[in-house]
Amino acid sequence: MYKKFSDGMIEVITGPMFSGKSEELLKRIRILEYANIKTLVIKPAFDNRFSDDEIISRSGAKISTHNANNAEEIKELFSKKNYKAIAIDEVHFFNKEVLNLICELADDGVRVIVSGLDTDYLRRPFGIVPSLLSMAENVTKLHAVCVKCKNAATTSFRKINNKSIKLLGDTEEYEARCRSCHIKGEFNKTREKIEDNKEEK
Ligand SMILES: [Zn+2]
Repeated sequence: MYKKFSDGMIEVITGPMFSGKSEELLKRIRILEYANIKTLVIKPAFDNRFSDDEIISRSGAKISTHNANNAEEIKELFSKKNYKAIAIDEVHFFNKEVLNLICELADDGVRVIVSGLDTDYLRRPFGIVPSLLSMAENVTKLHAVCVKCKNAATTSFRKINNKSIKLLGDTEEYEARCRSCHIKGEFNKTREKIEDNKEEK
């Protein structure tokens, strides 16, 4: 078996909402901090649900972030200091240019850790995350607890009838559900096919 990975690698932390993805990301950032590995921490600029410039997990753990809208801004931030690693939260909100940048950075020897939803509120593969899962050296898939039956939850169920892919929210708008309970609660039983999952501008 292998002894170690090369310096450049991609790690993905995924799963539904309320599964502790940000908590896991924060833990890994802290471990890099303890090892004095300089890490750039990024979150999407428009996601200010919990804080403008911090990632805050639901347990209250937090860490300072840089906000970015796109690959260009991430690249600029990364070039400012001698970073050896980059962590990106809510990576499902970024586009293919960010996916390409992540691959370039990993190829250049940077350790990249990302966290994001693998599926959207209709259980469809979400944005760039499926590609990241394919290309990653390491994948951690977390589960929440289904609010209905208490089995392992793998999906984020939207409690309100809104069709925007980018609807941000917390417990008011979403809850974790297992496959079976998600299907029972869907507002639109004739859900759109995977190919209809287009990136919103
Ligand atoms: Zn259930």
